[in-house]
Amino acid sequence: MMPQLIPDSEQVMSILKKTGAFREGHFVYPSGQHTPHYFQMPLAFRYYDTARVLAVALSRKLRLEKVVSSALPKLSIISPSPGGIPVAFAVREALTADQIYWAEREEGKRMFRQYVNAGEVSPAVIVDDISRTGDAIKDTVNLVREMGTKVIGCGTIVRFKGSPDHIEIPGEDDPVPVLSLVEFDAKWYDDGDSCADCKKGVPEEHVRF
Ligand SMILES: [Zn+2]
Repeated sequence: MMPQLIPDSEQVMSILKKTGAFREGHFVYPSGQHTPHYFQMPLAFRYYDTARVLAVALSRKLRLEKVVSSALPKLSIISPSPGGIPVAFAVREALTADQIYWAEREEGKRMFRQYVNAGEVSPAVIVDDISRTGDAIKDTVNLVREMGTKVIGCGTIVRFKGSPDHIEIPGEDDPVPVLSLVEFDAKWYDDGDSCADCKKGVPEEHVRF
């Protein structure tokens, strides 16, 4: 049997289910939206073996992008938030890129740590565990550009189909594809009144974000 270099979407979903990172039920977000499924990605990254399988798969997709592979090892792997740090470290290891950065929110604004200086940052690949809306990646593209660094790739383990599969980079002709291992068709209800599980009386679970 040929070894499968990049697990398909079904295999990745099975890892996410097995680790508890993908959950089915009746969930209510702080925004009041209801959903029959929930991703808590750090649960897949608490096991070194599954973390490695997922990150190596994503790194292989990234490596297939000529612009990414030809920049190595002078590449920075950048996470939009602390949630993506395990992905960033594991992708860095698989690609042998030379830098890792992550942004954090301070008073609601996404930013890099103080003294992360412009001019020292290698061309960037933005990676995350999940992209629900694409906003985190877009914010990070802008932050990276403010540091004078070019974004040459994006990748996420799971991408909701409603979030962009390409990111426009201001000043660049070609948008950068957002590579992912799973494209998930997320289902939402704006409130309890429109929610199928509420109608069936399924008990709610409240999630923090
Ligand atoms: Zn509901």
